[in-house]
Amino acid sequence: MFSLNNKIVLITGAGSGIGAAMAESFAQAGARVFIADINKTGGQEVVAKINSAGRQAEFMGLDVTNEEDCNQVARQVLDSHSRLDVLINNAGIGSVGTLLQTTGQDMDHLYAVNVRGIFNLTKAFLPAMLDRKYGVILNMASIGGVVGIRDRLAYCTTKFAVVGMTKSMALDHSHQGIRVNCICPGRVETPFVKARLAEYPDPEKAYREMSTTQLTGRMLRPEEVAGAAVYLASDEAASITGAAFLIDGGWSAGK
Ligand code: NAD
Repeated sequence: MFSLNNKIVLITGAGSGIGAAMAESFAQAGARVFIADINKTGGQEVVAKINSAGRQAEFMGLDVTNEEDCNQVARQVLDSHSRLDVLINNAGIGSVGTLLQTTGQDMDHLYAVNVRGIFNLTKAFLPAMLDRKYGVILNMASIGGVVGIRDRLAYCTTKFAVVGMTKSMALDHSHQGIRVNCICPGRVETPFVKARLAEYPDPEKAYREMSTTQLTGRMLRPEEVAGAAVYLASDEAASITGAAFLIDGGWSAGK
């Protein structure tokens, strides 16, 4: 197990799915974890689970689309702990549809959460990381940020943007002690995917089809993504920056 002993970590969207699994894994690896989510109930449940296991977590209400919220959260963390070692921009939303089926409103909303949300929160924390010449930023992209996916026009557009933002930030700041990477998972069995499945006329058939996009024939488990995140955040990954780290069950290998 890679150690994150005494690291201060903030994970957005950690009240559910992959974020919740990451929060548990990071706490298990010794980190103090801030769970920042728009969903107070889910976030507090994750905090309670981690704390009852004798580990350290704290909930912070946050809407990543709101710049003032992001600044406020950064102020609170930096005032109380004087640093943030690892920022995980995981909060994200999806939608199903081709270009003609996607409304302008859907497009703007996905952009606001998936892209602008990362921009807002990273901007709030980066100056303090630069002052210390130390920081790890991990953005949640997707396999849909590396290859196109049918009926996911808005989602893929935003996730390709996350990969681009990650690489640009790595170029700008790696020489200043800041590592910036993103994770590109295939389909992970979470409430997010269950919500997408519910939009299909035959959800069970859609589940089988979605499972076989992975060469392994199944969806990933959130804990598998969390394991990759712990590694990427640890000092053992000191030479990894600017990477779009695939954990996709072989999806991107081709057909
Ligand atoms: P999820 O729906 O289970 O969890 C997403 C969390 O983000 C929720 O707790 C939600 O409340 C929070 N959130 C949404 N909007 C927010 C906002 N404006 N501010 C703060 N928090 C907000 O989803 P998940 O499957 O765990 O997905 C997490 C991330 O992983 C997303 O970025 C998603 O695009 C990405 N991803 C998921 C899959 C998958 O198959 N599940 C695959 C690739 C990438």
